[in-house]
Amino acid sequence: MNPKRNIIIAVDGYSSTGKSTLAKHIAREIGYVYVDTGAMYRAVTYFAMIKGFIDEKHFDKESLIANLSEVNLSFKFNKGLGYAEIFLNGENAESFIRTMKVSNRVSQVAAVPEVRQKLVEQQQKMALKNGIVMDGRDIGTVVFPEAELKLFMTASTEERARRRFKEMRDNGVEIDYQSVLENVMLRDHLDTTRSDSPLVKAADAIEIDNSQLNVDETFALAMGYVKEKLLKT
Ligand code: C5P
Repeated sequence: MNPKRNIIIAVDGYSSTGKSTLAKHIAREIGYVYVDTGAMYRAVTYFAMIKGFIDEKHFDKESLIANLSEVNLSFKFNKGLGYAEIFLNGENAESFIRTMKVSNRVSQVAAVPEVRQKLVEQQQKMALKNGIVMDGRDIGTVVFPEAELKLFMTASTEERARRRFKEMRDNGVEIDYQSVLENVMLRDHLDTTRSDSPLVKAADAIEIDNSQLNVDETFALAMGYVKEKLLKT
C-alpha cells in the first residue's frame, strides 16, 4: 500500500482488548510509527514507585508533580522486536512497567492532570513528522481529536481478564486469574470515571468488539477500515 499522505490512526479502548497488538500490526503493515501511550503512563508510575511517591497505601501526588521535570521518556526502535521500547531517563524500562505492581497503580497516576498534560504534549509532537498509529485511552478524544481514523476497542471483562492472565502466565509471571480480573475491573472503573480525559468513545470512532474475534480476525477487520481511509485520503 502506498498512502498518499500520512494520517493519524487512534486506537483507544479498554484494558486488554488487544489495542497494542492491533496498533503494532497496523503500523508494520503500512510503514507507520507505533506509539504505546500506556507505556508512558506506566513509566511515570514506575518512576513514582522508585522515588517512593506511591505504594499500596499512599500516593504523594504533590511530590510526583513537583518532580515531574525529572521524568524523561523516550522510545527507541528495537529491530529484533519490530517495535519501539520505552526508556525512562536513558534506561530501558520495558521489563519493569508490565508488572502487576505497576498495573495496580498506573490508573491513579494517570488521573493526575499534570501528568496527563506532560505526556499529551510529548504525544502530540510525535505525529509532526510521521504517519502514526497511537494506542491509549484518550487519543481520539484529547490527544488527536482531528485523527483521520479512530478505532475504539471493547471486549467482555471476563474475556479481557482471561487474555491478560494468559499473557502474564506465558511471560512467567506467577499470578491467579481472580487478581487479574480484579485489576481489569479496577482500571476500567478508574479510567472511565476520572475527571480529566476519562476513557470514552469519541463520537466519530468505529467500535470493534473483539470478544469473539482472534488476533488475525481483529486485524483483518481493522485493516478494512484503514485501507478504506487511506484510499479516500
Ligand atoms: O494501555 P495500558 O493498559 O498499558 O495502559 C495502562 C494505564 O495507563 C491505563 O489503565 C490508563 O490508566 C493509563 N492510560 C491513560 N491514557 C492513555 C494510555 C494509558 O490514562 N492514553
